[in-house]
Amino acid sequence: MRKRIVSGTEMRYSFTFGELAYLLFRKKLCRNCGGDLEKYKDFAVRTEIRSPLFKNGVEVKEYKYHFVCTVCEAQFSLNELASKQS
Ligand SMILES: [Zn+2]
Repeated sequence: MRKRIVSGTEMRYSFTFGELAYLLFRKKLCRNCGGDLEKYKDFAVRTEIRSPLFKNGVEVKEYKYHFVCTVCEAQFSLNELASKQS
């Protein structure tokens, strides 16, 4: 069997539909005080082993957003904001 090396970096946004809809259409307001939320983008890099045959995993950059209130500095994840919609 030939040895294959799979490597490289993939980028991925892991949004649910609800999160995406919130991100695009909803006004981002603090749940504590109603202040404006500022959006921050961060990412985590992790290595995914797709198959036990490949020792070298694929590097995946996973992007996420979180929000910080400009008034009271409370922090919210996108998931948190999107899932508690009234
Ligand atoms: Zn606030």
